[in-house]
Amino acid sequence: MIPVCAPKLGGNELKYVADCVKSNWISSMGTYVTQFEESFSSFCNTRYGIAVCNGTVALHLALEALGIGRGDEVIIPTFTMIATANAAVYTRAKPVLVDSEMKTWNIDVDKIEEKITGRTKAIIPVHTYGHPADMDKIKEIAEKHRLFVVEDAAEAHGAEYKGIRAGSLGDIGCFSFYANKIITTGEGGMLVTNNEEIAEKAKLLRNQALIKKRRFMHEEMGFNYRFTNVQAAIGLAQTERADELVQDRINNAIRYNEWLKDIKGITLPPQAEWAKNVYWMYSILIEDDFGMDAAEVQEELMKRGIETRPFFYPMHLQPLFQAGDERFPDCSGEYPVAEELSRKGLNLPSSNGLKDEEIRQVADALKSLSKK
Ligand SMILES: *Cc1c(COP(=O)(O)O)cnc(C)c1O
Repeated sequence: MIPVCAPKLGGNELKYVADCVKSNWISSMGTYVTQFEESFSSFCNTRYGIAVCNGTVALHLALEALGIGRGDEVIIPTFTMIATANAAVYTRAKPVLVDSEMKTWNIDVDKIEEKITGRTKAIIPVHTYGHPADMDKIKEIAEKHRLFVVEDAAEAHGAEYKGIRAGSLGDIGCFSFYANKIITTGEGGMLVTNNEEIAEKAKLLRNQALIKKRRFMHEEMGFNYRFTNVQAAIGLAQTERADELVQDRINNAIRYNEWLKDIKGITLPPQAEWAKNVYWMYSILIEDDFGMDAAEVQEELMKRGIETRPFFYPMHLQPLFQAGDERFPDCSGEYPVAEELSRKGLNLPSSNGLKDEEIRQVADALKSLSKK
């Protein structure tokens, strides 16, 4: 069985975790939390890192720290994971959906401005499957309309746009450290930013908005989104090997690209000239002339011991969002690219420790399923 994505924990993870247990520091108070925040934020070339318990709450906390709430609108791609949309919904702001572009599978920058209203406060581009969104154009639009940019970089540790690290391109970058992400802590997340005021606000809200003046007295509504020392210990060990972990994914992609490029009906993942794609997932499109659709390919590969994942299910088609709650996105309108990606896409095994023979096995299986 080749799993779709497994972590690689062969560095100092065990040593640092043992240190937490032996020293009795297992809560969010331990020093690994600040060490991990420093090391991961410097990996992103940002000044501040605020570790939180997962990537979803990193996005939520980012919007809260920017003061986004009831009556506001937040622009997101419809082709994303539910977390991006829910983060806005949690603040009582309304997510506003934009289609993707085929070139990068990310938010279509030419379709953003038509969705901006007087209530729009922020854009959340998602660096889908490790390929950065077209950030110059997004930042230009944001500046013109005085909007915040929050990067959903949950899938893009180490990715670069024109040589600049994902997470450092907007006002806040949000990461996930779930077990299948490029750098993992099991569950976990982080906000990174260069803005001291935003960093301080996020830290305050992460910890129930606890103030110094009087313990257990609160002036605003915070959250318990704290991160534990034990997880940070794993994160620090992972970040020590961040370049290696990123390169593992890129190496997977180099082999897949080589061995899949001649199979008819397979479209390889995007690679814009200005992007460093880190291939969180190695993702392909099963085109109509392949001979069977992506769902059938998934089933056939499973029979051969190869686990895969379908692409995201677009937000405008989510049963959840058809319910007409005032906070939910308006699901009307046309999103043909997102629907095509969702129908044709397949994420192939993408673990850090993937062996050449395993990639070969996946490629051979796809070849045998294709019409040639
Ligand atoms: C993984 C992911 C998240 C959420 O991260 P969790 O840690 O699972 O909460 C958010 N956005 C995208 C695009 C993701 O892939």
